[in-house]
Amino acid sequence: MNRSQATNRPRLLNWIELDQAVLRKNIGSLAKLAGDRTLAICVKANAYGHGLAEMTSLLKGEKRVDYLTVHSVAEASLARKAGWDRKIMLLGPFSSDETRSVLELDLEPMIFEIGALEELGHLAGKQNRVIRTHLKLETGTNRQGITEQELPGFVSVYKKQPSLIPYGAAMHFANIEDTTNHEYAQQQLDRFEYLVKRMEELGIKPEIKHTASSAALILFDKTRFDLVRPGLSAYGYWPSKETYLSYRLAGGDNNLFEPVLSWKSRISQLKQVEKDSFIGYGCSYQTTADTKLAVVPVGYYDGYDRALSNLAYVLINGKRAPIRGRICMNLTMVDVTDIENVRIGDEVTLIGRDQVETIWADQLADWGGTINYEVLARLSSAIVRRTL
Ligand SMILES: *Cc1c(COP(=O)(O)O)cnc(C)c1O
Repeated sequence: MNRSQATNRPRLLNWIELDQAVLRKNIGSLAKLAGDRTLAICVKANAYGHGLAEMTSLLKGEKRVDYLTVHSVAEASLARKAGWDRKIMLLGPFSSDETRSVLELDLEPMIFEIGALEELGHLAGKQNRVIRTHLKLETGTNRQGITEQELPGFVSVYKKQPSLIPYGAAMHFANIEDTTNHEYAQQQLDRFEYLVKRMEELGIKPEIKHTASSAALILFDKTRFDLVRPGLSAYGYWPSKETYLSYRLAGGDNNLFEPVLSWKSRISQLKQVEKDSFIGYGCSYQTTADTKLAVVPVGYYDGYDRALSNLAYVLINGKRAPIRGRICMNLTMVDVTDIENVRIGDEVTLIGRDQVETIWADQLADWGGTINYEVLARLSSAIVRRTL
């Protein structure tokens, strides 16, 4: 190998870029929708695949963000390590081993299990601490909420243990993203108001109410209450086509969000393959002409869904390069026959923009039979994240 080849060797083969200016724009749009309400940004699932530590660092610079919301105590711990010193709401359950950390990390847990509430109250009492909690009310998701029948039991724990503050009343919508018909959402809101009233009759009055994830925040003023909890939209994606259409039909502007994340790799090998050759495992693709093939060192291990085999394309030199054969664990083959001047080390865009061409998580989700949330959440945490 001569010297110039050696110095052209790529420094990274697989990386994610986060665009800070785009994040700022998205947060600005959410802040505008939120008005004077508290803004909580969701960073669960490794910040929707963007990288929890990296996103936390970026969000520290967004003064309008009051809370992070996380699913697990482990995520909350990572956010604290990344220097987040504002509030954190814990959306998911915590185990008995984690109860101590809920207090140490100064989290505001969502409450839906009476044993967890008792344990937390006991420990907080022993430590002379008070802790803000949020009661998750069951309004139609049948997932984590407290039902009307269970409510008196929870209320009596709060009454016995003054360390526990019933600070928030919360719920989650089951069916806003998936439809343009919002009757079910309205029923859930009615049920929520009813259960909050029941709480008050039983003798505890929450200081704040909150219900809105991205779709609810974008589409319905009346879901916003005192605090909003968007996730996906902060990263620049619409929760669904239905959400986008409903918003646009109501006259909303087209420029609310842009994707923060791009996913890049580089061509690691180029080869000329003859007509009628098979490509990859299972011989699922056979060339119909002499073909120039590029090997990209990314596979399903990295979160590039095997369901995209022979369906998706990547972008190289501003052109589409279709995937040929099955996506492997660590490698993917693409056809670059009609792309000029392709060289080893050329940048490959799996998600993002290359000149006039773009490919976003929505497109990969359509091909893979899933949703943009899953495409993003499955991006391996092992991929290097760089902030632009
Ligand atoms: C994930 C989650 C959100 C954020 O939802 P998006 O659709 O990503 O905006 C809000 N609230 C709860 C309880 C969640 O679990």
